[in-house]
Amino acid sequence: MAKIHVLDEHIANQIAAGEVVERPASVVKELVENAIDAGSTVIEVSVEEGGLQSIRVKDNGSGIEPDDCETAFYRHATSKIVTGRDLFQITSLGFRGEALPSIAAVSKVSLLTASKDDGVGRKIEIEGGNLRINEDSPSGQGTDFAVRELFFNTPARLKYMKSIQTELGHISDTMYRTALAHPGISFTLHHNGNQLLRTLGNGDLLQVIAAIYGTSAAKAMLPVTAEDPDFKISGFVSRPEWTRSNRNGVTTIVGGRHIRSNGLNAAIMRAYHTLLPINRYPLLVLKFDMHPSLVDVNVHPAKLEVRFSKENELYKFVEEEIRKVLMGQSLIPRPSKEP
Ligand code: ADP
Ligand code: MG
Repeated sequence: MAKIHVLDEHIANQIAAGEVVERPASVVKELVENAIDAGSTVIEVSVEEGGLQSIRVKDNGSGIEPDDCETAFYRHATSKIVTGRDLFQITSLGFRGEALPSIAAVSKVSLLTASKDDGVGRKIEIEGGNLRINEDSPSGQGTDFAVRELFFNTPARLKYMKSIQTELGHISDTMYRTALAHPGISFTLHHNGNQLLRTLGNGDLLQVIAAIYGTSAAKAMLPVTAEDPDFKISGFVSRPEWTRSNRNGVTTIVGGRHIRSNGLNAAIMRAYHTLLPINRYPLLVLKFDMHPSLVDVNVHPAKLEVRFSKENELYKFVEEEIRKVLMGQSLIPRPSKEP
């Protein structure tokens, strides 16, 4: 007798949720990325109790067509890629069509969305992957997504959640990096009603740096812009005299997405070599532009890690360009530390 069968969609979604939805911050990341992909200019995030109680992401983007609302929660349902070839030139943040089904499998979701500004919208409610409501409901254009009681039906996962403060820390970090990657979008973050972040969305990266790290940090930044045939770098690096006690102030952005790259981090630290006191780190926000074919984002479920085709060339270029900027500035050292 045959023993192998294909798992039903419900279980498959719960399994996928284990990879995509690690903690409340993963939900924030996925929902905010969807809002960005929808062309939003204003994205408001509010969370309660470190996101464990509720996460709400409201945007003014394209909205979802009424007939697409249910489909959006199917596995591998996406509007962002069509053919296999698209995978090699991804320009959106999402493309796997896994976030919504995964989130909906392990929480209570309500969605209100409208794709036009004619007041006609659609409301969806899903609990633990089961559709409860799908009906017309008045709404302005955009999407309002609420996720309540994350992991309510996966107690093992819930048990692994850290304190509210720790979960909030991850959420803030996600929001900071995303805001740094998108200075043209206005972001707000509220926790239990208190405002933790507000960016203006006027395209000024220094304003975003000031909103996150403070005005004295913003004043310590030096602009970097450089271009070679393959790569373009732009952003800000802190003067060597202005240092931090940890590496968290390093944000590297590729294709509109904050990424982690040990190779890039090492190149950055080489550029600062001998200019920084021991165990001190820079504050730095650098955006890398390259042809989508030179970077593979399809190597990590949360797309945090990427693979570069010409990595050694990129690392060398980064190190040299940062070094140039720093050397031009380090003639009159003015020691100062982060308060
Ligand atoms: P992906 O982002 O990989 O396409 P998701 O599961 O995150 O997959 O979302 C599924 C689809 O739902 C998206 O492709 C998009 O068409 C739609 N969608 C989700 N969130 C939004 C939003 N905030 N605004 C407009 N469309 C959205
Ligand atoms: Mg998505």
